[in-house]
Amino acid sequence: MPEILSTCPYCGVGCGVSVSVLDDDVKTVLATPTHPANYGRLCSKGSNLKETLLSVRDGNRLTHPVVYGEAVSWSEATQTIARKIEQSIAQYGRDSVAFYLSGQLLTEDYYVANKLMKGFIGTANVDTNSRLCMSSAVAAYKRAFGSDSVPCCYEDLDVADLIVLVGSNAAWTHPVLYQRMVAAKANNPNMRVVSIDPRQTATNDLVDLHLPLLPSTDGFLFQGLLRYLIQTDGIDQGYIDRHTDGFEAAANSAEAMSLERVSRETGLDQSLVQTFFDWFLATPKTVSFYSQGINQSATGTDKCNAIINCHLATGRLGYAGAGPFSITGQPNAMGGREVGGLANQLAAHMDFSSGDIDRVQRFWNSPRIANEAGLKAVDLFEAVAEGKIKVLWIMATNPAVSLPNSNKIRAALEICPTVIVSDVTHTDTSDFADIVLPALGWGEKDGSVTNSERRISRQRAFRQAPGSAKADWWAITQVAHQLGFQEYFPYQSPHAIFVEHAALSGFENQGSRAFDISGLSDLSELEYQELTPIQWPVTATHPQGTDRLFEDGQFYTASGRAQFVSGKPKKIQAKKAEFILNTGRLRDQWHTMTRTGAVPALTVHDPLPFVQINPEDALTLGIKHHQFVQVSNVLGRVVMRAEVSQSIASGQLFSPIHWNQQFATHAVVCNLIESVVDPVSGQPESKAAIVAIEPY
Ligand code: SF4
Repeated sequence: MPEILSTCPYCGVGCGVSVSVLDDDVKTVLATPTHPANYGRLCSKGSNLKETLLSVRDGNRLTHPVVYGEAVSWSEATQTIARKIEQSIAQYGRDSVAFYLSGQLLTEDYYVANKLMKGFIGTANVDTNSRLCMSSAVAAYKRAFGSDSVPCCYEDLDVADLIVLVGSNAAWTHPVLYQRMVAAKANNPNMRVVSIDPRQTATNDLVDLHLPLLPSTDGFLFQGLLRYLIQTDGIDQGYIDRHTDGFEAAANSAEAMSLERVSRETGLDQSLVQTFFDWFLATPKTVSFYSQGINQSATGTDKCNAIINCHLATGRLGYAGAGPFSITGQPNAMGGREVGGLANQLAAHMDFSSGDIDRVQRFWNSPRIANEAGLKAVDLFEAVAEGKIKVLWIMATNPAVSLPNSNKIRAALEICPTVIVSDVTHTDTSDFADIVLPALGWGEKDGSVTNSERRISRQRAFRQAPGSAKADWWAITQVAHQLGFQEYFPYQSPHAIFVEHAALSGFENQGSRAFDISGLSDLSELEYQELTPIQWPVTATHPQGTDRLFEDGQFYTASGRAQFVSGKPKKIQAKKAEFILNTGRLRDQWHTMTRTGAVPALTVHDPLPFVQINPEDALTLGIKHHQFVQVSNVLGRVVMRAEVSQSIASGQLFSPIHWNQQFATHAVVCNLIESVVDPVSGQPESKAAIVAIEPY
């Protein structure tokens, strides 16, 4: 039976899967034993991929383009889109057109969408749901290293002596990496794991020390750690002198963060803080593994830099078992970053500097190019609400459920003159679409993704698409042709797009940009089909890829030196009778449940939306376990089942983000999240909404 090697379409771990297919009938989807991301492991979502495929195919699958309620041909649909774009540009200017993309797209889809928008339509109003996931980590890496470069690789988790999980319930959100940590700890009795998280989670089964700090106070903790390292002679002055700038300013900002102050700000017992600091001090092979709990904050970028500062001060990066390791949420958040999926980036990690603008325009030979950053996700939808965006094309994401203040997002979609949605199934967002395009789903589409350790893997097609569903890159290319740009979008296959993307990454790149896969730019179609997982950079000098960055202490800043960056930590406080609502993900669900919600094996554990509340608070409010409660604030209300649990501290609540409006009208937790964003990254504060809770 033919076996196809592909990559799991869910999280940023990027596990390899082997699919057995006979006559378009998928027999098994199993873990690939040799894929370096998972070495034969899968989590519950990956293990149920076959069932998910069947459910999505049998469910409310989109199969034909629909324009204003009428099924039409692709030619009619793409012509209509092109005319709408032209009319909007003529009447309101280029910035009246916007794309909202997704970390679910393949790199090839992402590349073509960005090229069309930034280089040909001529606006940078193209952002992605990755803004909600890891844009603070991107901004912090750029500030510290001069490039959006994750220094670590998964092997570092195998050989570290200390893993510090910050804002990460890895056991549920990145389960295969968690399994890897479990195995590493079993092999290394000296290894310790610390979890810094307001909640007790499943990850605690592994940890030696849990710091249940108050929500959003991580910045205080890591500034305190820097101060402690300085005061205990735990810094590497040689590394600081040779490879960094800005240490003194960072040390000055941390000066006030004594153990007592850290304890006061974080609500942590001082002895817990001291133990963590002592372990960090004593352990050269330390990996700080951080995720949405750090990124999804109005001070997320500063928090990431506070973590990075501690690694720079101790020289703990660039060697095995050490480094500040941001883990992406989505399967291709990293690929989106590579092609310029964020509104403040150009392709191939280039910026909106005059040199980069000119470079990208010359490479594309495009008639124009966006010359400044566009609107980031929250601002982009604000512009939709204000009537400034007239044509909005949303691909592979469900912002009516997943963006903060979802009620407002739905109202904005309602008034937008032309909403185009490309997706696999009907969603809450497609309810607002004037034009619906049936996209290819996992197993039908073909291309590449990049996981959290910079590893590019192939997603391969192994079954026929239903109806006339088409790849996103193909649909965008057709619109580009309708706009008159045929010669610039000659693509007949993902391979043609990938090699162009790879060539751009090396174009006039004299070691000035970390993202360089020019070593893959001359892959033949066959070589692309057979591409095995490889970590960027992939260049003439590193043809087999690069597992770890910054081994030589050279960075991508103008000076070649890493930068310490200091911020001012801030604390979120609720008033009397208010609660801080934390949000997150479940082990078995993905995003807004449009795929995993259709599989009984994945819904059985948590069939209903729920909110966790501490027993003391429940008693005070007269709330019983499994009773329905209403959680509300000025933005909206959500009705859920109460889960009375010691795992959440008094004054805090926790609720998963997954349930959509198709499930129940008052089930969308993002209705309660304010559109407050980090000023540097634009990433929303999704972990600390101020709410009230009462019996329903
Ligand atoms: Fe898929 Fe992530 Fe699970 Fe791996 S850990 S099987 S990539 S969801």
